[in-house]
Amino acid sequence: MKRLRQVAGKKLFEMIMKATFYGQFVAGEDQNKIRPTLDRLRSFGVKSILDYSVEEDLSQEEAEKREVSASISQCGDKEEEGQLKQYHVEQRFADRRYKVTSARTYFYLNEAACERNMEAFLKSIDAVADTTQSTGLMAVKLTALGRPQLLLQLSEVIMRARNYMQQMVGGTGNVLTHHKTIEDLQRYFGDHSSKPEVQEFMKQITSDKEGIVHLFPWSGILDKDMNLSDSFRVPDPKTGQMRRLISQISPKEEEMFRNMLRRLNTIIEKANLSDVRVMIDAEQTYFQPAISRICLEMMRRFNKNKFLVFNTYQTYLKSTYNEILTDLEQAERQNFYWGAKLVRGAYIEQERARAAAMGYEDPSCESVEATTASFHKCLKEILSRVKGREGKPSQLGIMVASHNEDTVRYAIQLMQQHRILPGDKVVCFGQLLGMCDHVTFPLGQAGYSAYKYVPYGPVVEVLPYLSRRANENRGFLAKIKKEKGLLLKEIARRILTGQVFYKPVGNYKPV
Ligand SMILES: Cc1cc2nc3c(=O)[nH]c(=O)nc-3n(C[C@H](O)[C@H](O)[C@H](O)COP(=O)(O)OP(=O)(O)OC[C@H]3O[C@@H](n4cnc5c(N)ncnc54)[C@H](O)[C@@H]3O)c2cc1C
Repeated sequence: MKRLRQVAGKKLFEMIMKATFYGQFVAGEDQNKIRPTLDRLRSFGVKSILDYSVEEDLSQEEAEKREVSASISQCGDKEEEGQLKQYHVEQRFADRRYKVTSARTYFYLNEAACERNMEAFLKSIDAVADTTQSTGLMAVKLTALGRPQLLLQLSEVIMRARNYMQQMVGGTGNVLTHHKTIEDLQRYFGDHSSKPEVQEFMKQITSDKEGIVHLFPWSGILDKDMNLSDSFRVPDPKTGQMRRLISQISPKEEEMFRNMLRRLNTIIEKANLSDVRVMIDAEQTYFQPAISRICLEMMRRFNKNKFLVFNTYQTYLKSTYNEILTDLEQAERQNFYWGAKLVRGAYIEQERARAAAMGYEDPSCESVEATTASFHKCLKEILSRVKGREGKPSQLGIMVASHNEDTVRYAIQLMQQHRILPGDKVVCFGQLLGMCDHVTFPLGQAGYSAYKYVPYGPVVEVLPYLSRRANENRGFLAKIKKEKGLLLKEIARRILTGQVFYKPVGNYKPV
């Protein structure tokens, strides 16, 4: 692509791209140019998730440099042992695009660049509101909005808090479902529980109406005044002394963290006012505990009466089923709408390579079959709970984001089993623009809530993302025998009937 651009010049190059890769996978340059594609999708009952897909064209060297310099905490970064190693930066994997073909990647430059990214997301909300008549969604990546190191640190503290809780209850499993009470905690600290600092800690621990303990008031991470370094401290059960669960964070870094959350909050508030729903993408496992936690807190804040914020769950991870159980329990106890996008996951090769190189356990399922089993198990669990309690609307909504026909069929079968109607709009389906139209369009036409994930942005700025997608498709084409066959048949039909430039328009209305 780069060579063609040099030889053909900008104009001709853009024309060629629009007639090929760009035209296939990207809807257009801006909110006006994408309109025909969105209208055509809508005419077949398909709605859109807009994704402003510009990506900086950085060399590997530059990407590594930026990532490493943005990841060194001003207070230093302590080497960790065991699984916690995962939450530390590693030079060899600093280029987060390594072996990732289908997801966009942001590299931190400075706070001003994050502000610009926020502005782009805000414009994207206008584009969704303007073009999709309240049916659209927009995708957000949290790594675009702040310094990634802070997500690593928050992820680490979340994992340490879980380990701490597990040590306390003497077992493994799901933190929330341990159902520990303040009295259990007092017993755990034994004589130390009379120490003033331990008593102070116990006072601040939150427990819900059933008396079940939450180690930290996580909702505090959205508060302007919360100080990360001071908040995540626990008594050492052996000595009774308070110890930090988070590595030291400087005041400047604390401010950057607040900035990241302010930006996300601004985006969601605007989306709320514009009647646009927000899907937060899942990224690498070393960011994911933080992304998921922040997303859950945003759901708690904004999803009180409706679905506004959606989290993403990657079912190629061994831990995802338990994560979903925990989050479902929180949503039920705290009474907010839980919106989830279920995907297999886009980072598997990088996850595996990183785990092997750094010497921690591979977080992903061991085979493609195991990933499918995990996806289906999560789906089954969620759909069994989707129907709201008698007379109440469902507070669970799920997007089955997959190109896998068996998974889509399985979801439909489960919907029938649980008497969930396509028009209930609590289960929807999502595929990428330009891929598996033979799955999305029949769903939309049959009255299911069907979405296309629609990238858009100027040709040159979308190219880095697009060229990686083109690379992915090399492997993908080998897999999609059926789609290739269908496309060839249609091309032959159009040629034989003189309809080479045929642009079908349907007469369907999306649910
Ligand atoms: C609307 C939409 C939104 C998406 N958003 C996100 C997102 O936010 N975050 C994200 O990470 N991904 C996201 N994805 C990408 C998605 O996770 C998958 O990478 C992609 O869709 C392929 O999975 P599939 O279910 O479509 O198809 P399939 O072709 O059936 O599955 C391929 C997937 O199986 C898994 N897999 C492949 N080989 C193995 C193996 N040897 N062992 C274990 N597992 C294996 C991998 O996850 C691989 O991507 C999104 C996809 C869509 C359609």
